[in-house]
Amino acid sequence: MTSQRSSSVLEAMAGPYDPASVEARLYDTWDESGAFQPSGDPGRRPFTIAIPPPNITGQLHNGHVLFVAYQDLMIRWQRMHGRAALWLPGTDHAAIATQNVIERELAKEGLSRHDLGREGFEKRFWQWKDEVGNSINDQLRRLGASVDWTREHFTLDEQLSRAVREAFVRLYEKGLIYRGRYMVNWCPDDQSAISDLEVEYQDVEGSLWHIRYPLVDGGHLTVATTRPETMLGDTAIAVHPDDERYQSLVGQEALVPGIGRRIPIIADAFVDPEFGSGAVKVTPGHDPNDAAMGERHDLPVINIMNGDGTLNDNAGRWSGRDRFDAREAYLEFLQAEGLLERVEPHTHSVGHCSRDGAVIEPLVSEQWFVNARPLADAAAAAVNDGRIRFHPARFKNEFLRWLDEIQPWCISRQLWLGHRIPVWYCQDCGAVIVAREDPSSCPVCGGRNLRQDPDVLDTWFSSGLWPFSTLGWPDDTPDLRRFYPTDVMETGYDIIFFWVARMVMLGLELVGEVPFHDVYFHGLVRHLDGSKVSKTNYQPGDDPLETIEAYGADAMRFSFVTAAAPGNDMRLDLRQVERGGHFANKIWNGAKFVIGAMERTSGAAAGEPSLIDRWILSRFNQVHADAIRDVERFRFGEAGRTLHDFLWTEFFDWYVEAAKIRLYGDDPAAAARTALTLATVLDGSLRLLHPFMPYVTEEIWRHFRAAGGAGDSPELLIETPIPSASPNVDQGAIAQVRALIEIVQSIRNARHESGVEAGRQVEARVIGGDDGLESQAVFIQRLARVDPLTFHVADTTFHEPAVTARAGGVEIFLPLAGMVDLTAERERLARELADAEATLGRAEQLLANPRFVERAPEAVVAKERDRARAASERVAQVKERQAALVESP
Ligand SMILES: [Zn+2]
Ligand SMILES: [Zn+2]
Repeated sequence: MTSQRSSSVLEAMAGPYDPASVEARLYDTWDESGAFQPSGDPGRRPFTIAIPPPNITGQLHNGHVLFVAYQDLMIRWQRMHGRAALWLPGTDHAAIATQNVIERELAKEGLSRHDLGREGFEKRFWQWKDEVGNSINDQLRRLGASVDWTREHFTLDEQLSRAVREAFVRLYEKGLIYRGRYMVNWCPDDQSAISDLEVEYQDVEGSLWHIRYPLVDGGHLTVATTRPETMLGDTAIAVHPDDERYQSLVGQEALVPGIGRRIPIIADAFVDPEFGSGAVKVTPGHDPNDAAMGERHDLPVINIMNGDGTLNDNAGRWSGRDRFDAREAYLEFLQAEGLLERVEPHTHSVGHCSRDGAVIEPLVSEQWFVNARPLADAAAAAVNDGRIRFHPARFKNEFLRWLDEIQPWCISRQLWLGHRIPVWYCQDCGAVIVAREDPSSCPVCGGRNLRQDPDVLDTWFSSGLWPFSTLGWPDDTPDLRRFYPTDVMETGYDIIFFWVARMVMLGLELVGEVPFHDVYFHGLVRHLDGSKVSKTNYQPGDDPLETIEAYGADAMRFSFVTAAAPGNDMRLDLRQVERGGHFANKIWNGAKFVIGAMERTSGAAAGEPSLIDRWILSRFNQVHADAIRDVERFRFGEAGRTLHDFLWTEFFDWYVEAAKIRLYGDDPAAAARTALTLATVLDGSLRLLHPFMPYVTEEIWRHFRAAGGAGDSPELLIETPIPSASPNVDQGAIAQVRALIEIVQSIRNARHESGVEAGRQVEARVIGGDDGLESQAVFIQRLARVDPLTFHVADTTFHEPAVTARAGGVEIFLPLAGMVDLTAERERLARELADAEATLGRAEQLLANPRFVERAPEAVVAKERDRARAASERVAQVKERQAALVESP
């Protein structure tokens, strides 16, 4: 019966590992089994990760694979360690990005959002979301993400919208949210304020215009500017107080050309006397530094721009024109008036919108702000006292520095898609109403003429609540009580301030506890040319689904985790993914060998473990302990590489080769023990490797159990515990087998060097070493193809041509007569020596020529030096081999 069942197992595993036939089936099996949901057993300590919600508009690209690979690794690892593991999935509405997508769709139909109105636009959004909003989830499934789909959230859900409103009202009531006129970064394309973090600075080759301002008392003062149109909003000219050239002018007045406004000439230490003429225009409405200067000198603030980038009535006869158009027209006017002194080319840094590339206009406008200062102090305290830890630790200082310099956070956006600001203005008495529920009348005057603030909230405001809003906050839910604070926040370092800092500040303020204890930053994924893999820089090969189809999800995940180092960017090389696929196949084939061994010995009683058995079990116990230690310290790549190297080399190469000796020998008890050892190591390895390569390990587990492996363990590997590592490590066995392996390797090298055919047996003499070594003669004989093998006491000498080597604490003597035709070998070596010496001679001659060394390109000279070095090494090697061939007297 047993043999019949087992052989059908191997039949089912025929051929190489085929991810495509396995992955979708296993994902459904896991999902349907309920394994993705955290255990309800109150005795199990929770382990929670809230997924960084991808944008609803998004498609996963290779840059996203890292977060899935790391987070699923941690979640599976902790689940297998008995924790109630919860990975919370969901998506973000990404206000501006999504509104742009929908507006582009409307444009194709010849419509704008204004044709639909706010309500119609929202309806259109939900329709769009139903149609395309799930593609991101399908991609997560393909990668094997074990998220709890029953707890999925979307930032515009009713529940999360209620959380957003609660948060806004609470912060407002505490005076932490306020409305004010401040300088913001204005994107004329989005027609919205955007946050500092959304501005990308680029060096632009522009011009520096030197312009004359007429003085009221006659004469003129020259000022240099890169944005002449903003002169229309000037309210002063400033010079440095110590600048002797201008001291007599301070206190006088100048005229803004074309407008005729009288503006004072002031002295301020902020002015750089070395820049331009040393006199600068002051435009508090459109420049943050000027705004600060304006405050110091109590200057008026004049805004000259409309939201769409055209100039407003304050711009006099240039009003109504687009900003760049107005610049040209104004310059023409200045030229005609003789006020344009000169123009010079000038490279300067210009802020651009990170989404649409529009040139940002700093302008003063009415916005809602979070007073982030007290929140940032609380966040810094949580980091300083260790409630929050960063991995790698170097991000701690960067985080603290940013908190230290934090600015008010502008949270209003002039968009339609998003959480509408819960503020109403009474049109009758002017009252401002901030409310959790939509008010129907004014609490002050009872009037019903209310108008809601037209703006929506920055999308990072709602994602800042993510770790607790997804658990039911503001309600005191069982999930919030059990899973908050979450355990790990895993994300890219590029959103440390956008998102991580906001979650910490809002979690502490609103829930009273840190949102997570450990923050793990992965690096960015880059193309081989170094450019960042992103939505806007999509290149062929960036689609993870294509890569999964070619190599499997495991190959992709494993290669990403083992190639990346925390916090450092990685360059994606698809050859690495291919190697990950080879590894999956190596395990698959190795598992088939193990299952075959189990079949062959089924029913036999196992004898005593051999030296080789004790070695592999000890090595497994070491690797097991190392992997646990590394994963606990967030060193996932190291853990993966340790498992890989152990399985590939020690287990599936050395142990399997050595196992064949006893497995196919004539001692059934020894064969049974060998099969048992194979099964034990495979069982433990599958468990450790599962979080790294979930599919191939789960599929092998299924066959392994069908063949009678894994005892009474759970049916699914995803739910099987990883035990703690056994402390049984036989250091003696490890040292002995290591020596045997070195001996075999050195004999293999010598055979290879001498060109011995793979199948041929050669003679070897081992000099030195102890009896223990002699008892393992068969290991050396089989694995190095040695016959005869003899052992000799230390210092024994032989006088005949031979290759000798020191390895594993002994001397190995390989008589050459059995390996090569001595005469032919001598001739071959003589030819090779002549060749190497000629190459060396040519290179040395060239390098001795000063004209070559001085005039040839550096790379050519370096190449010649390398050639000389290689040739001289070869000469030495060949001479050594010739010496070994000298016949003894
Ligand atoms: Zn923009
Ligand atoms: Zn009122």
